[in-house]
Amino acid sequence: MPSSSNKLIAGVIAERAHGERRVAMIPSDVKRLESKVTFLVEHGAGHPAGFTDEAYALAGATLTSREALLAQAGVIVAVRFPEDVDSWRENGVLISLASRDPALEATLAKRRVTHLGLERLPRIARAQSMDVLSSQAAIAGYAAVLEGARSLDVVFPMLTTAAGSIKPARMIALGAGVAGLQAIATARRLGAVTHGFDIREAAREQVESVGAKFVHPRTQLASADGSGGYAAEQTADEQERLRRALAPELASMQLIITTAQVPGRRAPLLIDKVTLSALTPGTVIVDLAAESGGNCEATRPDEIVEVAGVRIHGPTNLPSTVATDASRLFSGNLRSLLEHLLGADGQLRLTTDDPITGPLLGNQALPQTAPIPPPIPA
Ligand code: NAD
Repeated sequence: MPSSSNKLIAGVIAERAHGERRVAMIPSDVKRLESKVTFLVEHGAGHPAGFTDEAYALAGATLTSREALLAQAGVIVAVRFPEDVDSWRENGVLISLASRDPALEATLAKRRVTHLGLERLPRIARAQSMDVLSSQAAIAGYAAVLEGARSLDVVFPMLTTAAGSIKPARMIALGAGVAGLQAIATARRLGAVTHGFDIREAAREQVESVGAKFVHPRTQLASADGSGGYAAEQTADEQERLRRALAPELASMQLIITTAQVPGRRAPLLIDKVTLSALTPGTVIVDLAAESGGNCEATRPDEIVEVAGVRIHGPTNLPSTVATDASRLFSGNLRSLLEHLLGADGQLRLTTDDPITGPLLGNQALPQTAPIPPPIPA
C-alpha cells in the first residue's frame, strides 16, 4: 500500500486508445522518483511496451485497479488523453498529450480536471528534457524509414555483386525538423543517398550536418521561421509555387518521408495529385503528417493507398510500433517534468507564472484548492 507520508501520489494508467502500446512511466523512472513520489500503477499498464507488473513492483510501485488508482492519485500520467476522463473524480490533475484538441477542454472543465497538455510545453532550453514531442518525433523519423524500406521494392545500399551492380536508393525528407533529420540519419546508415528540404532557413545547415544534400527548389521562397523553432504558415500562392518547384526534385526519389507541420494548422500540402502523377512508379511516400491532414493529397490516416504505382503510407502512431524505447523516452521526459513540478511540500506546484507550468496549463482556471487525494483505505 502507498505510504501515508506527504509524498505526492501519482497514477500510471493503462492506455486504452486503439493500437497504443506505449506507457507514460517505466519502472526505472518510478525507482528514480521513489524518494519523492509514491506510484500507483494500473495492472498491466506496461505490458504492451514490455514492462511487467513485477518490474513496477520491484521499483517500489503499488499495482492496483484503474478505479482504485483514480480515487487515490493526486496526479495521473498518461500518453494519450484517456477516454474515461468523464467519470473521473473532480479536481484531479492529468498530464498527457492532446492539448491541441479544443473539444477536450470542455470535458475537462466540466469535470474540473486540470490538464497539463504536453503539446503546449514551451521550446526553451530548460524544458528540453521534458519535450515529449521531440523524443517521439525522433522515434517516428526512425520508424518511418523502416516502414518505407519494407514497402520499397529496391534496396537502400549500393550493391556490387557478380550478377551486376545496384545503385543506392535516393531518399528525401520534406520537413527537416526532429523527425525529418532522424529519418535522414537512419536512411543514410542504411546506405541511401539522402536529401532534405525545409522552409526554415535554419534547417539547411542541420540537413547538411547529417550528411544529406539540401534541396533548393527553383522558386523564390521567403524563409518561414516562426517562433520557438517552429515554421510559420505560407500563403496559398507560396504553397502552390513550392509544390510545382518541388515536383521535379521528387521525381528522382525512391523514398519520400514527409514531416512538414505548422502547429495548430492543417499540415501544408506538398504533394498534390499533379506531383503524384509525375513520380516514378514504385516510389514510396511515408507521410508523418497524416493525422493533421497529410502532406500528400492521397494520404489516408493509418492506410496504405496506391496511386499510379506510388505507395502512400499514412501512419499516425509510429512511436507505438517501437513501444519500449518510445516509452523509455516519454517516461524520461515526464520524470523531468514531475521533478520540476514538485514543490517544497512534496506536492504539485501549479502556478501560471512559471515559464514551463504556465504554458502547459494554457487557458485553464486553476482549482480553488490544490487537489488533495482522499485518505487511503486501510
Ligand atoms: P514540426 O513537427 O512542427 O514540423 C516539422 C518540420 O516541418 C519543421 O522543421 C518545419 O519547419 C517544417 N515545415 C513546415 N512547413 C513546411 C513546408 N511547407 N515545407 C517544408 N517544411 C515545412 O517541428 P519540429 O520537428 O518539432 O521542430 C522544428 C524545429 O524546432 C527543429 O529545428 C528543432 O530542432 C527545434 N526544436 C527546438 C526545441 C527547443 O529549443 N527546446 C525543442 C524541440 C524542437
